[in-house]
Amino acid sequence: MSPYTNLEEYNLEITEEVKSRYSSIISEIGEDVSREGLVKTPERAAKAMLFLTQGYKQDAVKILKGAMFKEDYDDMVIIKDIELYSLCEHHMLPFFGKAHIAYIPNGHIVGLSKIPRVVDVFARRLQVQERLTHDILECINDTLQPKGVAVVIEASHMCMMMRGVQKQNSVTTTSGFRGQFEKQETRNEFLKLISSNLS
Ligand SMILES: [Zn+2]
Repeated sequence: MSPYTNLEEYNLEITEEVKSRYSSIISEIGEDVSREGLVKTPERAAKAMLFLTQGYKQDAVKILKGAMFKEDYDDMVIIKDIELYSLCEHHMLPFFGKAHIAYIPNGHIVGLSKIPRVVDVFARRLQVQERLTHDILECINDTLQPKGVAVVIEASHMCMMMRGVQKQNSVTTTSGFRGQFEKQETRNEFLKLISSNLS
């Protein structure tokens, strides 16, 4: 199934508006918008941009609440290597990488597939990596009210790789911890369990 499947839900007026702006941008950079390969580009770019920012219209709290189950399990639950694609709000260029998330249940667990969906809701917006980390952390903490939650994100930023300093291999790591993960011992256990991924 195409990732653009639910585009029908998008407001056609907005798509038209964004499309005409892309058309102007393409002309401004010195291209011929009527060239065969570019004829449909403004529309495709508009739909891609709306897809990549659809998180504004989605509700992460609702996603979590829709799949919370009473359960006595109270060991650490870790979801590693969650693929993440976002747009930096300073350049509107992609940053991408992985999120590693853990929580310690406090009477409730959540369907495991919901955690990556929460990541998507906050990633599909104009973001900075620090706020993205914080948004995911606070959402899980407030909604699930676990005994602790931890979020680590490692990402490469196209705005650094393709322009400016051109540090092509740098990876930015951000992290946030709440509750029991604020204790060194618990935090270290989590970091050890995901450490095969951290370089
Ligand atoms: Zn940037």
